[in-house]
Amino acid sequence: MAKKFQGRDVAVGIDLGTTYSCVAVWQDEQNRVEIIHNDQGNKTTSFVAFTDHERLIGDAAKNQTATNPQNTIFDAKRLIGRKFNDSDVQNDMKLWPFKVISGLNDKPVISVKYKGQEKHLCAEEISSMILTKMREIAETFLQLPVKNAVVTVPAYFNDYQRKIINEPTAAAIAYGLEKRTNSVRGRNIFIFDLGGGTFDVSLLTIKDKVSDLFKKKKEKVFQVKATSGNTHLGGEDFDNRMVNYFAEEFKKKNKVDITGNPRALRRLRTACERAKRTLSFAVVTTIEVDSLFEGIDFFTTITRTKFEEINMDLFNECLKIVESCLTDAKMDKSAIHDVVLVGGSSRIPKVQQLLQEFFAGKDLCKNINPDEAVAIGAAVQAALLSEGFKKVPNVVLQDVAPFSLGIDSLGDIMTVVISRNTSIPVKKTIKRATIRDNQATANIKVYEGERARASDNNLLGSFALSGLPSAPRSHLFEVCYAIDENGILTVSAYDRSSGSMNEITITNNKERLSSQEIEEMIREAEGYRFKDEKFLRKANVMNALDEWVYKLRNAVKNKDVKLKLSSQVTDKIISAITKTTNLLDDNQQSEIDVLENHLKELESVFQHIIRKFV
Ligand code: ADP
Ligand code: MG
Repeated sequence: MAKKFQGRDVAVGIDLGTTYSCVAVWQDEQNRVEIIHNDQGNKTTSFVAFTDHERLIGDAAKNQTATNPQNTIFDAKRLIGRKFNDSDVQNDMKLWPFKVISGLNDKPVISVKYKGQEKHLCAEEISSMILTKMREIAETFLQLPVKNAVVTVPAYFNDYQRKIINEPTAAAIAYGLEKRTNSVRGRNIFIFDLGGGTFDVSLLTIKDKVSDLFKKKKEKVFQVKATSGNTHLGGEDFDNRMVNYFAEEFKKKNKVDITGNPRALRRLRTACERAKRTLSFAVVTTIEVDSLFEGIDFFTTITRTKFEEINMDLFNECLKIVESCLTDAKMDKSAIHDVVLVGGSSRIPKVQQLLQEFFAGKDLCKNINPDEAVAIGAAVQAALLSEGFKKVPNVVLQDVAPFSLGIDSLGDIMTVVISRNTSIPVKKTIKRATIRDNQATANIKVYEGERARASDNNLLGSFALSGLPSAPRSHLFEVCYAIDENGILTVSAYDRSSGSMNEITITNNKERLSSQEIEEMIREAEGYRFKDEKFLRKANVMNALDEWVYKLRNAVKNKDVKLKLSSQVTDKIISAITKTTNLLDDNQQSEIDVLENHLKELESVFQHIIRKFV
């Protein structure tokens, strides 16, 4: 087995899962990927444990959980790139038997007892221990040192959390779907990843790289059009539902409550998880736990129908998320070419049935082991990146902007330049206008976020464009937002008439928002929708009134116009200016209706006069 790799720099693909991790390698001779099993012939559980004597990783760690719960770490991936104060982290902590404390910059730190001493570790360190284990598994199998690996991360991870390839792309590569596309229009692929504790959906488009269309060698471009999901929805929730159901049944039968007994609950949960897996191919199965509680054995059965019934709302929740991802991508479900199943829980027949019905009976891609698909794709990518492998498909990855990027307009209005989920690289130019006569400098503030008021969003940076020519208000200049393939944003401003320009570059090194914060902000923005609409209505009417003051002032200032106006009309204009500026100065007190009525009045009284003379 190992001989084939002799003298080569082997690169492996690793799927670092929340519950299970998996490693695979590309076999050039056989033109296929091989999954590397651990010594137990399984996928490796993503557990790390610390004892008085040693550190354990994988199944060995998981198997001693019961006797060492405070020092057995799982779910570490959930903490990557998040803050300790993050509400999801706070909620997770309530369920974890191990201790998490706040470290430098509010980073969550895991505190364990190891060899008799307290030790602090961050989530990345735990993950790297699991990666080390995956590497050992691969090295034992290959009998060679492994120096390079492609590690997958969820598609919604930001650049700070990201390493090379995203999970949905890896799954699509595993199916070789990129080979099926041969047009610029591309192929739309929907990835449905229901794992142990998380649910992720992504919409990918694979296209030929435009510059390569007429060349022999074709490069494929993977674009993530949109992602959605639920960070707490997966196999463990289905297990929990079963545990509650059977705890109730046990109570009815035996008049005793096991819910306060962690050991009984744990044993019941293990039995439920096994039964759940069986129900993916059998329509009925048994649960048998000897001496579950107070010496009472628990023998019972469960049908697939019952299992589906107690989880139906969770399954429907999955479908809702599928729908929202399509809405975000502005794509109709009929435009999807392939639906790929990933994650162990996507084996559940009901989930597959609902998904297939949703996509109008389309066949689902499920012939690759769903908990291996990600590792397989990563192995293909790893082989591609390393020397000496020729047959692997050539791919380029593209992502989306997780947030809308915009600029502040008069009245603190957020004007979106690049909207959320736009594929990158992207470049957009908008026209801006000065707001005062002879304005020499324009200040440009760059925001990311979904709120209507600019300052309610995340300020990424600001700069000034100076040297604007002497000109009346509304002099136009250009502002361009460009995000390159590395996610680096450059905002430039350019005034055509004077040739002045300036720009700002916003890189990823500075702390950007985590996926968690992204989700939260989007959710938060939704919650503020009413308030934001009100703000926008008021800001717009104030801007319109301001424009009127400007026009009316110009009318009375202009000698030629003034001559044509009767003194009565001039007085009317002057008093209208005073009334309007008073309303504007006092805007905190002014009701929107009052402002809007005043605007209507100005329009009806002065529209024809202004049009005639100005
Ligand atoms: P993750 O990527 O979140 O670490 P996986 O994709 O490996 O996790 O999925 C693990 C989950 O899949 C577990 O909850 C497990 O119980 C569930 N699972 C595995 N096989 C089956 C099956 N045949 N039927 C139903 N659920 C399954
Ligand atoms: Mg996974």
